[in-house]
Amino acid sequence: MVTEDYLQQLNGQQRAAVEYVDGPSLVIAGAGSGKTRVLTYKIVHLLRCGYEPWRILALTFTNKAAREMRERIEALVGTEVASRLWMGTFHSIFARILRANADRIGFKSSFTIYDSADSKSLVKTIVKDLALDEKIYKPSSVISAISTAKNALISPEKYAADREIMRADADARRPRIHEIYRIYRDRCFTAGAMDFDDLLYYTNVLLRDNPDVLRHYQEFFRYVLVDEYQDTNFAQHLIVARICEEHHQLCVVGDDAQSIYSFRGANIRNILSMRDTYPGMKLFKLERNYRSTQNIINAANSLIEKNTEQIRKEVYSENKPGDRIEVVSSYSDLDESAIVANRISQVRMLTHDSYDEFAILYRTNAQSRILEESLRKRNIPYRIYGGLSFYQRKEVKDAVAYFRLAVNPDDDEALRRVINFPARGIGETTVNKVARTAMDCGVSMMAVLHDPDGFGLEVHSGTRRKLAAFASMVDRFAAQVASGDDALAVASEIIRATGLLSMLITDRTPESISKQENLNELLAGVKEFTEMRREEGEADLGLAAFLGQISLATDQDSDDATEERVTLMTVHAAKGLEFNNVFIVGVEEDLFPSSMAQGSQSEIEEERRLLYVAITRARSFCMMSFASNRYRNGQPAMCSPSRFLHDIDPCYLDMKAGATIGAPRSRRPSYSDYMAAARQVRYPARQAQVSQPTASSVHRNPVPVSASAAKGETSFATMPGADGSRLKAGMVIEHNRFGRGTIVEVDTSQPDHRIKVVFDNSGEKLLLLKFAKFIII
Ligand code: ATP
Ligand code: MG
Repeated sequence: MVTEDYLQQLNGQQRAAVEYVDGPSLVIAGAGSGKTRVLTYKIVHLLRCGYEPWRILALTFTNKAAREMRERIEALVGTEVASRLWMGTFHSIFARILRANADRIGFKSSFTIYDSADSKSLVKTIVKDLALDEKIYKPSSVISAISTAKNALISPEKYAADREIMRADADARRPRIHEIYRIYRDRCFTAGAMDFDDLLYYTNVLLRDNPDVLRHYQEFFRYVLVDEYQDTNFAQHLIVARICEEHHQLCVVGDDAQSIYSFRGANIRNILSMRDTYPGMKLFKLERNYRSTQNIINAANSLIEKNTEQIRKEVYSENKPGDRIEVVSSYSDLDESAIVANRISQVRMLTHDSYDEFAILYRTNAQSRILEESLRKRNIPYRIYGGLSFYQRKEVKDAVAYFRLAVNPDDDEALRRVINFPARGIGETTVNKVARTAMDCGVSMMAVLHDPDGFGLEVHSGTRRKLAAFASMVDRFAAQVASGDDALAVASEIIRATGLLSMLITDRTPESISKQENLNELLAGVKEFTEMRREEGEADLGLAAFLGQISLATDQDSDDATEERVTLMTVHAAKGLEFNNVFIVGVEEDLFPSSMAQGSQSEIEEERRLLYVAITRARSFCMMSFASNRYRNGQPAMCSPSRFLHDIDPCYLDMKAGATIGAPRSRRPSYSDYMAAARQVRYPARQAQVSQPTASSVHRNPVPVSASAAKGETSFATMPGADGSRLKAGMVIEHNRFGRGTIVEVDTSQPDHRIKVVFDNSGEKLLLLKFAKFIII
């Protein structure tokens, strides 16, 4: 099966790491030393040792990394075998596992994945519903608090019960985040949706609460490999630990000096504690860097040495000595972008490198716009990672929202997006009423549209007709999905029936034309998907499968690989990648290191690691630049060179005319001191231990709670576990909306228990126990 002698393509240290398959192993090594290469070849080696491909689980951080590994493996073992590996990002693999077992955690396998815009919109709605101030409860801050909690596997209930977290929130004047979190969780659940963090959170819930499922995957995956382990968070770390609990057959690789995601809950200790978790874990070192020139490696080493928290390790290069790193100063950010663009042209003329071999790396996304302008002026083609990707464009998101509704009519965020688009006379007030009713009754908005009377929706008959027409259109799409029509058939019908495309055709403005092109491109994508899956002999050609694929696509995946282009990206996004020529811009105080990350030594060290990552992306040419003036938050600001420039041994730097970096500045205390202190209180070293979460640490079956209950005004609750066996005909209840009533019938014959109730003032109603909120009186 393996045609080439792959072991010849490794050095002695790499080969030892690849050949060791008798137990857990850890590779800790510096940038560019071949860690990813070791993982790739180890997979080939496992196949050669007789492992079946589907029993190998390989987890990466980016789709791009997964794709590159797959391509390499394909070249060595063939497409057929490679396609059977379980290889992908944490999120894509766990989404697949969750879909296969969705019923175990109360979801349908067609659950929607909310992207960050959906999450933001939902948080905004909740903040508004709770009448909180959006300036204090900024969606981004709320989302980040929720995300941190989820990645530490803290449920809303546990969050509210944690005195330290609650105190930190109170100190930050945001004492009601826990309520927002709980309602957010409930709304997502009712909408049959998960956000990115949920994919990890619920996988943990699934494996924790279902021993048979856990056993299945423990037996199924015989070998687990993880790249970039230094950036795993607690939730990811725990899933890997659970799957490998029995067989201990795993190999993880990482570099503590490149740990740059602590703001997302990544914990360097996860990699350091590996050897305690797996006694006998074999440690391999790789010392030779194959990527960069000696000068680049020496400069990067001299920088990272200044960090106190690190594992000392050798990294050396036997490549050419190479040129020194250019350090360029400019008057303003505008000048900086012009200098970078000019230098790109010059270097390209000298080296004949393709544009693909040039990257401009920055600390924050906002820096890209001005660089883009300079590149455009000089006709230098570029692509931005992390900007608006194809699937983030409005018209594409609108169409995809209809796709999502067809697959999962409970998807509230999709519904909100298109209920009045194209315009059909359903105003915002009506939409808010529907949302409020849905929230109060603990059902999805679509459920309200299907039974407005049942849920007590108060709207005029004209509006009601419009809502009914919308619901029945979505029903038609849903029926088409249910009947097994393929993705292309349903998608084409949706675009046609909704008028999304035809409404654009009358408008001949360039924006409208580009929107039409995008919609056609989307359909072309669906077509390609359907045809490819058919060719691969896949039975499932449905729209749900298509959505599953695109919801985890990142910007990197939507670029068209045919044209060579300069890459613009944040340093975070550049992890694991390499380019011949790297330009690092904005190497200034308060930008790199960020002003938000100067509160503590450890934050500064993380920023320093970030610069280490940036420099080590370069194979042969590296330039760092800083400006004296820069527009920041809409205002001009004076800037000074980054303290990190002082950390690098000057013998590896080539200071260009006028580039003086002055004496190191002493650090002034800032607003971020407070932030850092607050954050440390929030989650004290929680992620250090791999302990089993206690029964209460991850919420079992999310049970929707009414918005009013969340405000603490009433004590109505859903029946725990939605169990009808405790109820009997004749009991009197008080319902949160319908008031007093008498149970006349209890139906436990179906999985979803129901009761029929005659209310004193609202007549007879059939209530689904899992949603109804009432107390027995
Ligand atoms: P990073 O820390 O940035 O993720 P890494 O340790 O994963 O880096 P790789 O990306 O695997 O390093 O390797 C860096 C470069 O060196 C790649 O281009 C790889 O193909 C090359 N390389 C690694 N080992 C060898 C080798 N033995 N022979 C030739 N090239 C090699
Ligand atoms: Mg790597």
